[in-house]
This record gives sequence, C-alpha cells and structure tokens, in this order.
Amino acid sequence: MHSPSPIVRRKSKRIYVGKVPVGDGAPISVQSMTNTRTTDVEATVKQIHALERVGVDIVRVSVPTMDAAEAFKQIKQQVSVPLVADIHFDYRIALKVAEYGVDCLRINPGNIGNEERIRAVVDCARDKNIPIRIGINAGSLEKDIQEKYGEPTPEALLESAMRHVDILDRLNFDQFKVSVKASDVFLAVQSYRLLAARIEQPLHLGITEAGGMRSGAVKSAIGLGMLLSEGIGDTLRISLAADPVEEVKVGFDILKALRIRSRGINFIACPTCSRQEFDVIGTVNALEQRLEDIITPMDVSIIGCVVNGPGEALVSTIGVTGGHNKSGFYEDGVRQKERFDNEQMIDQLEAKIRAKALMLDDSKRIDVSQIEDK
Ligand code: SF4
Repeated sequence: MHSPSPIVRRKSKRIYVGKVPVGDGAPISVQSMTNTRTTDVEATVKQIHALERVGVDIVRVSVPTMDAAEAFKQIKQQVSVPLVADIHFDYRIALKVAEYGVDCLRINPGNIGNEERIRAVVDCARDKNIPIRIGINAGSLEKDIQEKYGEPTPEALLESAMRHVDILDRLNFDQFKVSVKASDVFLAVQSYRLLAARIEQPLHLGITEAGGMRSGAVKSAIGLGMLLSEGIGDTLRISLAADPVEEVKVGFDILKALRIRSRGINFIACPTCSRQEFDVIGTVNALEQRLEDIITPMDVSIIGCVVNGPGEALVSTIGVTGGHNKSGFYEDGVRQKERFDNEQMIDQLEAKIRAKALMLDDSKRIDVSQIEDK
C-alpha cells in the first residue's frame, strides 16, 4: 500500500552463501550469530532453530578449536539455514569445516600465515564453492596500521580491508564479501562509504558491539539506516548484547522501515493520548507477539481515534480507527461496514490479519522463502 522504497542500491557482485544470494540486487539478507558454546551441539542447534523461526537468512557460528570444528559437523547436519564459520588465524580449522560443508568462511586471509597456508584455504574455498567474508573490526586492526594512523580511522579500516582484498585478488578469487565494522556509528559509516567506492564486492554491514537491546538497536538503526539509504549494503547483522533472536527482529525492522525488504507485519500505531478509545499499546504488544509467525508482508495500522486513524488506514492493508465502544475497520484502504468491539479488539484483529495473510499468500502465490525487495 505504501509506495516502494526510493533507495537505489549500489551495484555489487553476486556471491552465494549456501542457497542465499548476496549482492547484485539480491534481497538484503539478515544474519545473526550463535552465542552458545559451539561444542554444546544441542544448545547451538536449538538456538539456530529459534533464529530460523524468526526468519534469519544466514547464521554465523564461532569455531575457535578443532573440537568446535567437530561439533560444527554435527550442527551442520541438523539445520538447513546456511552457516558461516567464524575462524581466526588457524587455517586447519578452515580446511576442516570446509570438509564438513560450511557455507561461508569468515577469515581474514592476511591473518592465516604464510603464502602456502593462504593458498591452501583459498584453493579449498574455490574447489568447494565456498565464499569468504573478510571481516575488519576497528578494535582489532593490524599493529602497523594502528601505529600509522594512531587510532582507528575510516582510512585505517579501509587500508586493512584492502590488504586482505588484495591477497584474494592476487589469487584470482572473487567469491568474497567484506565488512568494516566499528562500534562508533560515524567511523563505521564513513569506512563503509570509502570501501563502497573502492570495490564491487558485496558488503556485509554491522555496527559492532553496538550495545544492549535498546541502545544497540538505536545505534544500528542510525548507522545502517544511513548506509542503506545511500544504497550501500548487501547483507547485515545487528550486534546486540541480547538474545540473537532480537538481532534478527531488529534487522528486519530496519529493512521494513526503509521499505527495502518486507517480511511480516509492519505495525503503524499511535503513541496514544487521552483521546484513545481502546487500549492501543496493549493491542500492539499483544499482536506483535501473537503474530510473530506471519511472514506475509503487510501494513497494519492501529490508531486510537479518528484524528489520524482514517488517514493511516487508507494506506494500510488492515487498519483500525478507535471509536466509542466500537472501532472502525478498514481493509485495503476501504472502510468496512463491520466494526470491532473495543473489548474484543485483539482477538478480532488477529483473526482478520491471519485471514488476510492467507488470502494474500493464495492470491499472489508468494514463495515465502523468496520474498523479494519491494
Ligand atoms: S491518534 Fe488519537 S489517540 Fe492516537 S495519539 Fe493521536 S489523538 Fe491520541
């Protein structure tokens, strides 16, 4: 109902993380990372399944040891979402998880060691069609770069990234994406801008160590919002000191807000005031929880009175406008004869939204695994 996003995406190359396309106009994928001990296979699989339920496209798993690599093998067999193995330094772990079917390696080639080791990992990735993510982090820049710039700057992050990019270029390997993360919004944003101007590889966005649930979500929305609105970014991960499931929800909310990718319900709700005719806040909170399983894109406006209700309802898939005892109901912008009993608002709205989702799925034959950019 709302107009499509005006954002023009930066041109980038396409890679595949398992079955998920990244770059070249593919839907911006939402990632998360497990925070269980990888050697605890049961807990890690359980967390990945929870992430899958909220729509995660790609999951990263830390693989710090050979024991973790063996656990990774078992985890991989029990989940269907593509898995990225997060590896630092030890090239043997990279070779091991490649054998076990990893979908992407997060490893910086310059940190692997001598030329022979780098070549072994890159050749293996090439043979098995496994992409690599170069992950630069302001907190762990190379010593010489730190000394050269004195502190992490956008130019320092760019130089670090290009050092690893050049290695892969030299080895004629182009199946990679790059991230230049920082916890400072301006540092991260400017680093990504510089990188976007230098390379055509897909970019993985993130504000690293962004903070807890609320502050991290706000920082990520500002940083990623600036970049995405400039067309920069092909995949993203929100870093929160919180349940990783929340990272995925925040990621989708950012994409929804920019109308880049819709998944599930986009709630429009007023902040309420003394004019409200029913409990707007309680209704929105209850429906957000009850309707988490709905992945059909739709706008639902829940407005407490007629001041702004009709206007929002006109551009929503489903809209409700508070009235005395009974509230007005709109579908596809058209006022319906039916009115909702204010006391039964949550149940009635839930039923209408579920019915609408089924109807939209049927009529448009949406393949929900392939929801494309609007
Ligand atoms: S829409 Fe109505 S109830 Fe909601 S904040 Fe505005 S005036 Fe108050």
